[in-house]
Amino acid sequence: MPILIKGARVIDPGNLDGKRDILIKDGIIDAIFDPIGQSGQSGQSGQSDVHVVDASGMIAVPGLIDIHVHLREPGHEYKETIESGLKAAAKGGFTAVCSMPNTNPVNDNGQVTSFIINKGKSAGGAKVYPVGAISQGSQGTSLAEIHDMQQAGIKAVTDDGLPVESSQLMRRALEYCKALSIPIFVHAEDKSLANGGSMNEGPHATFWGIKGIPNAVESIMVVRDIALAELTKGYVHFCHISTSESIEAIRQAKKRGINVSCETAPHYFTLTDEAVKDYDTNFKMNPPLRSGKDRKAVIQGLIDGTIDLIASDHAPHSVDEKDVEFERAAFGIVGLETSLPLSLKLVQDGYLSLTDLVVKMSKHPARMLGIDNDIKPGNPADLTLIDPDIRYEIDPAKFISKGRNTPFGGRQVRGEAFLTMVDGKIVYEKEKLR
Ligand SMILES: [Zn+2]
Repeated sequence: MPILIKGARVIDPGNLDGKRDILIKDGIIDAIFDPIGQSGQSGQSGQSDVHVVDASGMIAVPGLIDIHVHLREPGHEYKETIESGLKAAAKGGFTAVCSMPNTNPVNDNGQVTSFIINKGKSAGGAKVYPVGAISQGSQGTSLAEIHDMQQAGIKAVTDDGLPVESSQLMRRALEYCKALSIPIFVHAEDKSLANGGSMNEGPHATFWGIKGIPNAVESIMVVRDIALAELTKGYVHFCHISTSESIEAIRQAKKRGINVSCETAPHYFTLTDEAVKDYDTNFKMNPPLRSGKDRKAVIQGLIDGTIDLIASDHAPHSVDEKDVEFERAAFGIVGLETSLPLSLKLVQDGYLSLTDLVVKMSKHPARMLGIDNDIKPGNPADLTLIDPDIRYEIDPAKFISKGRNTPFGGRQVRGEAFLTMVDGKIVYEKEKLR
């Protein structure tokens, strides 16, 4: 049955901003019309064989896309499955996610890529765009079967979780991926300098007696890969940027016309290392929460466009992996079901406009993956309806994700996904769930 989304404010940056009705037929956006316009098409809203979604007070945006998600399947299904992850994504307002390749086996060949894509199709949540490994087994020694994976459907490559330590291998990867027009997502970390640290190096790490990770761990690799992008004319996208030094380096690289982009995650503009208290491992992630100065630099980077997009780095872990001493606990937190409200806070605090936020959570990710997600007739109906005003407390017990590892439990927030639609199918609707 056709679906009519009625009365939402539609924000599609660069395309449209205003109250519209959207008619969806056979998975496709069929028509967009002015609800108070003259007769003509608007007469369709009177049809009785249409499922009407009352979206007054809601904001309709092109489906949100999270390009940095650990779905954990194959191999670590006890942490998350493709199905639980994609359903959690839909609840978080995402119509698509990119899955990181650090599964078991690693997604370094077309067979694993096809497995993820096929499982994703029947999951009944967001779409999945797998990201393949740069190197075989993400071991950093020889290139993975990148062309084979591209044939199977990967949208990018990364060895996320691990850096590509060899500059020579990174150079080869950049040259190869340039020929294939595939972006490389860089996990920027100098492992030797990180030296087994668990939180940001500084007075808080000293106070708690936890081994620190200096900012240079990230920026050394950022600077190296900017140099390699310049050398090869290849394209580098930096994942989860957390430090002022990295942001400044990327800012300067962009000014010089080097082909780089970057993302940050909500925890880096929401929290600092001051929040790491009482050895609570829900505050342990890689890169670590940084200083107040870095947090400000992240927000400034979002404002001035140095930081192109927001991704959650959703990293579910089991209780057993987190309920241990801080230094032994796994790095990472879940993010799919908290990313939107935490990012909306940037709008509520006046740092970004709603339009800017939609660019960073939908348009830029889409462009990077080569997807046209404009809200226009003929395009697939991948849409997110946002309830911007609802206030509530984040409750990890209500997460659809198998992971409960979040530092945001009990936090008061405003705004959440009201409805998520993928190819014209409602994959999440708040009213229906509760
Ligand atoms: Zn990473």
